[in-house]
Amino acid sequence: MALYRAEGVVLRRWKLGEADRIIVFATAEHGKVRAVARGVRKTKAKLAGKLDPPAHVSLQLFETRGDLDIVTQVETINRFSGLRDDFHRLVRAMAMLEAAEQVMQEREPDPAMFTLLVRALDTLSNKPSPLVMAGFMMKLIAHEGLEPYVDGCVLCEEETAISDLVAFDIGEGGTLCQNCRRGRAITPEALYIVRLMLGGKLGQALEMVDSPAIHEVDHLAVEIIEHHIERRLKSLAVLSQT
Ligand SMILES: [Zn+2]
Repeated sequence: MALYRAEGVVLRRWKLGEADRIIVFATAEHGKVRAVARGVRKTKAKLAGKLDPPAHVSLQLFETRGDLDIVTQVETINRFSGLRDDFHRLVRAMAMLEAAEQVMQEREPDPAMFTLLVRALDTLSNKPSPLVMAGFMMKLIAHEGLEPYVDGCVLCEEETAISDLVAFDIGEGGTLCQNCRRGRAITPEALYIVRLMLGGKLGQALEMVDSPAIHEVDHLAVEIIEHHIERRLKSLAVLSQT
């Protein structure tokens, strides 16, 4: 048992007893970590407010023998204030945290996934584009080794023009031609955006202005991630109610 330091993002928290909280962190060095933060629900406590998701923090933790470590120090790196003042952005940030929590493994270092999450939160906070969340979900899936095949038909492997790829099937893992079509329909405009995202040109996709194709990609990315984690993203349910 020892003290250790970590850079983390607060993914989720819930109440424990009168004054404490359990916090789930994504960390660069230790993967997903669950820890108790003592006294944080007292307004005068030193840690109060610093551990509200989606904060990016520098942590000192005490390692215990159990499942839960203990938070001993927190310094704020970024509160992502641009997200906290905007309901729609905050919802999307929460959906990204939810996806990250499902995908990240406990105590397994994954600096690449951590960086992906921090960058996406930062972009959504500072330079919001309607495609930030979708871009994050697509990159997360690719990081998991499940990158969809979008350069041709995933079934017959026929190399076709973008306009001949008319469908996308999540189970098959990619786009399909007219002959093999199954799954959901996809427009050439949406497929173009997906190719940018998966082809290392996410920055170019983020510059695009709002359009029906962007909404199509947004929905597709959510469907793909929900298929992978085998559950719905609860954070997004509030959007369909507003
Ligand atoms: Zn085909």
